[in-house]
Amino acid sequence: MEVYKGKAKSVIEGDGDTYVMEFRNDLTAGDGAKKASKEGKGALNAEISAKFFEVLIDAGIDTHFIRFEPPTKHIVKRVKIIPLEVICRNIATGSILKRYPFTQGQKFNPPLVEMGYKDDAYHDPFLNDAVALALGAARDVAELDKLREITLKVNSILSKFLLEKGITLVDFKLEFGRDKDGNLLLADEVTPDTCRFWDVETGEIMDKDRFRQDLGDVREFYREVKRRIGA
Ligand code: 5GP
Repeated sequence: MEVYKGKAKSVIEGDGDTYVMEFRNDLTAGDGAKKASKEGKGALNAEISAKFFEVLIDAGIDTHFIRFEPPTKHIVKRVKIIPLEVICRNIATGSILKRYPFTQGQKFNPPLVEMGYKDDAYHDPFLNDAVALALGAARDVAELDKLREITLKVNSILSKFLLEKGITLVDFKLEFGRDKDGNLLLADEVTPDTCRFWDVETGEIMDKDRFRQDLGDVREFYREVKRRIGA
């Protein structure tokens, strides 16, 4: 039985305490206003995300990921998703340039962590801790601090891993969930749909901004990310 249908993935009930998360070929931008379907995109993202989750698990991050079932499925632990998007930025680009007077390409050191409320009807608005708590999105400030701490750890692990492959991790979005025992687990996906990747040498965009900005060759660049990370 399907328990959730997102813009690019579907979640189906699995055996025991598992869900089956299926990566679809759909691509959306602008809260679903712009849509396309690219044959093979789901499989590329499923492979790429599986590799990143394996790297993160090896580095000690607790996640929902159990195993990859090619071509498009992840078997994951059942979690209740926390309705927050945790965004980490190493370089200024995208939405932050519309909100603050940063310049395109400016480096953030330390990295910036922001949180948004996961709700397309409100365009996933950025929020502060007081609003997150008033919405019931998190239990307390300690939990929000934990989300920020894990996100910064994910950033260090993946930035280093990707740099060795000639890719700059510009920014990314994470989602978390709680399992039945209340453990906080990294969930969802880590893919070129949810991260910005730039080629270290050329600065070429290797992520969903190719679709958002009509740059073309979306799958070719996803395939190149997959090749470089050895997924
Ligand atoms: P921005 O806030 O600049 O639009 O996005 C920052 C980073 O978070 C980018 O890597 C972007 O891909 C990711 N991100 C933010 N919101 C969403 C979202 O609703 N869906 C997806 N797939 N990625 C998001």
